[in-house]
Amino acid sequence: MSSCLAGFKVRYNGTSAQNDVISWLASHGQAITVCPEIMAGFAIPRPAAEIVGGNAQNVLDGMARVRENNGKDVTASYISGARMVLKIALKNKVQAAFLKENSPSCGVNNVYSGNFDGHLLLGTGVTACILKNAGIQVYSETDLDYIKIKSFVSPDIAAEFAAEFGSF
Ligand code: SF4
Repeated sequence: MSSCLAGFKVRYNGTSAQNDVISWLASHGQAITVCPEIMAGFAIPRPAAEIVGGNAQNVLDGMARVRENNGKDVTASYISGARMVLKIALKNKVQAAFLKENSPSCGVNNVYSGNFDGHLLLGTGVTACILKNAGIQVYSETDLDYIKIKSFVSPDIAAEFAAEFGSF
């Protein structure tokens, strides 16, 4: 799961994107939290970045770039962070990833346009793409529901979860 969803202040602007369900699952030992950008060596805070000139698969294929809003090419670091997350996911045999929507690393359904104009396009971030390519189910915080969560946790944890949040 994206670290920022679990409440860690690792986003480019030094904030978290805390999600109560994700935080609960992480604090109950049901998730490994990762931040591909921090793993790749980026600082907090750091400039905003977007995928430019294509989609995440194009980035992995060397046909598009990830750039910061100052024009700096950070493609290699984004790919490096994605590969580190993939390695952890494979080593731990994870079934699914829950990642922060809209991020150039973690976005699952949408990412920003590449023009730094606030517009979103359909597409994934680089880490979400590399996980999907490896056959891992990838969801965003907007895709969370009880049925999915129940399928990934033990019956005891599912019951505890339902008592806390209901079976939404
Ligand atoms: Fe890190 Fe992903 Fe959250 Fe961005 S969206 S701060 S890369 S975990």
